[in-house]
Amino acid sequence: MRCPYCRGGDSRVLDSRTADDGAAIRRRRECQECGKRFTTAETAVLSVSKRSGATEPFSRSKVVSGVRKACQGRPVSDDDFALLAQRVEDALRATGSAEVPAEEVGIAILGPLRELDEVAYLRFASVYRSFESLTDFEAEIALLRSEAQLAAHPDFLDGSTDLDTTDIGTTDLATPSTH
Ligand SMILES: [Zn+2]
Repeated sequence: MRCPYCRGGDSRVLDSRTADDGAAIRRRRECQECGKRFTTAETAVLSVSKRSGATEPFSRSKVVSGVRKACQGRPVSDDDFALLAQRVEDALRATGSAEVPAEEVGIAILGPLRELDEVAYLRFASVYRSFESLTDFEAEIALLRSEAQLAAHPDFLDGSTDLDTTDIGTTDLATPSTH
């Protein structure tokens, strides 16, 4: 590990400790040539396996270039892209596997991209999930709409109305009466 100050190749580890809940190790080092101190981080390489069987290291910049096209003309900043790529990496690392299939990277992109920009999400999903007709778009848009409605009226979900239970009760009573 070269010293980032003088490019010297000889450094001494002063201290090492785990970070990020054990997902990384950070080492404090001292350059034996210029005496400056710096920190290195060691994390497991997250690999992405492609359909061809080849694997490559996960790359946030590949995630960004993958969604950038879908975000053309949309109000999405470089910070948004960086945060999205970070969220995708976190989600994949949280699965605990050292190697994930390329499709899973695409799936991990869908959620954060939908929160970021719904138009970009539809564009990305249409390519990624190979929408073939307007019906596919309509179904996806209907889903987005219904979820937006639920988000706007969360009281539908808190169980304060027991209409559903009453309905089920009525049906249950009606069934045995047919003999
Ligand atoms: Zn140095």
